[in-house]
Amino acid sequence: MRFASGQAAYAVAEEVAELGAQRIMLIAGDHVRTMAEAIAEHLPVSVWHDEVVMHVPTAVAERARQKAIDSKVDALVSIGGGSATGLAKAIALTSGLPIVAVPTTYAGSEATNVWGMTESGKKTTGINLRVLPRTVVYDAALTVSLPVDMSVASGLNAMAHCIDSMWSPNSDPIDRALASEGIRAVAAGLLTIVSDPPGLPGREQTIYGAYLSAMSLCSAGSGLHHKICHVLGGMFNMPHAQTHSVMLPYVLAFNAPNAPEAECRIADALGADGAVAGLRDLYARLDAPRALRDYGVTEEQVQQAVGAIVEAAPDSNPTAVTGERISELLEAAWKGEAPS
Ligand code: NAD
Repeated sequence: MRFASGQAAYAVAEEVAELGAQRIMLIAGDHVRTMAEAIAEHLPVSVWHDEVVMHVPTAVAERARQKAIDSKVDALVSIGGGSATGLAKAIALTSGLPIVAVPTTYAGSEATNVWGMTESGKKTTGINLRVLPRTVVYDAALTVSLPVDMSVASGLNAMAHCIDSMWSPNSDPIDRALASEGIRAVAAGLLTIVSDPPGLPGREQTIYGAYLSAMSLCSAGSGLHHKICHVLGGMFNMPHAQTHSVMLPYVLAFNAPNAPEAECRIADALGADGAVAGLRDLYARLDAPRALRDYGVTEEQVQQAVGAIVEAAPDSNPTAVTGERISELLEAAWKGEAPS
């Protein structure tokens, strides 16, 4: 893993050479085409793949896998957000091909061993070391083009990794230390991005926090928050980062009363007297996404997710998960009511 602000092309070429790769499959969607072309100039690219779709539908993964086989590639370079990384992971899962990941959002997928694919409204995730990118090149300059609202949502996706890591099933003291620093860095980074969108310092701070967030999530595993977002994302094809942003204050308010150590750590990291109030204040300053209803889902639809969420929720969640409680939580999140 290397941090290389403004140096992606050079750093990726070095990493690919280090792997000894001669035939690269370059994965990059249209939004990042120009920056991908600048990086590709220095690589032995055999095939481009630009069909990048959020939540990695199985059919998209199958087409990309076949292309990798037909083109006899020996490594994958993904340039883009979690969707591009996720597609590279889907190919690596079946082929074992090494990935060089170049993230352009703050989703953090590039630093986890978690893969996800979606079929018929159901998102399946799994853990496999094969999908963990062999190396990651973090170039904060590649995230400057991410619009401020998307930067905020994506950064809060990283913050959600940190907050969920405080109580997810395998959470240990090291995960919680990484998560605390991740919360601090992402909060500071996002506030700087909002006041200075083209500046690099806020972008660098946020990408640093995103890396820590992914490390903590990777070790601690998915908690209730991630389970809720996976169910909603898979069932209703909801935008990933925005769904995480909306749900986070509700899950925090749900768990905080029964997770005093986490509550204290999160409050400290946010520089606030309480975790829930600290996150609320941050959301106000960032003008963060607030309500599920703003993202193309009806109130009736979100209620259909209750059963699947209860089934997926970890038994170790600090607050007992029941259908009634999840239904209330989703109702409030759909309306954008103050979390209670
Ligand atoms: P994304 O990759 O779909 O990107 C969101 C949008 O922003 C897209 O339209 C994309 O083209 C555009 N974009 C990306 N970078 C840009 C840039 N620098 N400038 C301008 N536009 C840019 O969204 P995401 O939130 O990064 O990732 C979501 C996906 O990642 C989901 O499928 C989610 O499940 C997955 N994910 C996986 C993990 C994991 O550990 N496995 C972790 C986080 C997210």
